Amino acid sequence: MISDVAYDQNNIFAKILRKEAPCFPVYEDDMTLAFMDVMPQAEGHTLVIPKFPAEDLFDLDPEYAGAMAKTTKKLAAAVKQAFDAPGILIAQLNGAAAGQTVFHIHTHIIPRSNGIDLKLHARELADFEELKRHAERIKKALG
Ligand code: 5GP
Repeated sequence: MISDVAYDQNNIFAKILRKEAPCFPVYEDDMTLAFMDVMPQAEGHTLVIPKFPAEDLFDLDPEYAGAMAKTTKKLAAAVKQAFDAPGILIAQLNGAAAGQTVFHIHTHIIPRSNGIDLKLHARELADFEELKRHAERIKKALG
């Protein structure tokens, strides 16, 4: 039995899903949404979330876990192509002790290149016009 007792319906990603908060979307289907991280650790940093009220992996319905993995794979390929990235880091943090700061489960898709360090986690707000352009690049790569 899946429980959403602890889930905060007012977390920022829940608001994005309800369209009460803006985002720069790149992909959407019945079970998932992908959009730009507003405090990217590298250009092209993209997030994938399920349309399911789970704080973390332990609360997530397995069918949504599958949908999330599928969307993450699809988006990772598009981000890699769009940013000509030799490497892609996939991260998914569970619990504050693991560094999670937004309590609606998500995967991070982060382009990596040799010699370019990651920026600090959730620290510096990006230029919104630039995020808009990055979202367009990813959408184009998705075809
Ligand atoms: P976590 O620390 O939970 O793994 O990651 C949360 C991510 O959400 C961080 O990378 C942070 O930059 C991003 N983030 C925080 N607030 C917002 C927001 O309002 N919109 C978007 N698009 N990303 C956000």
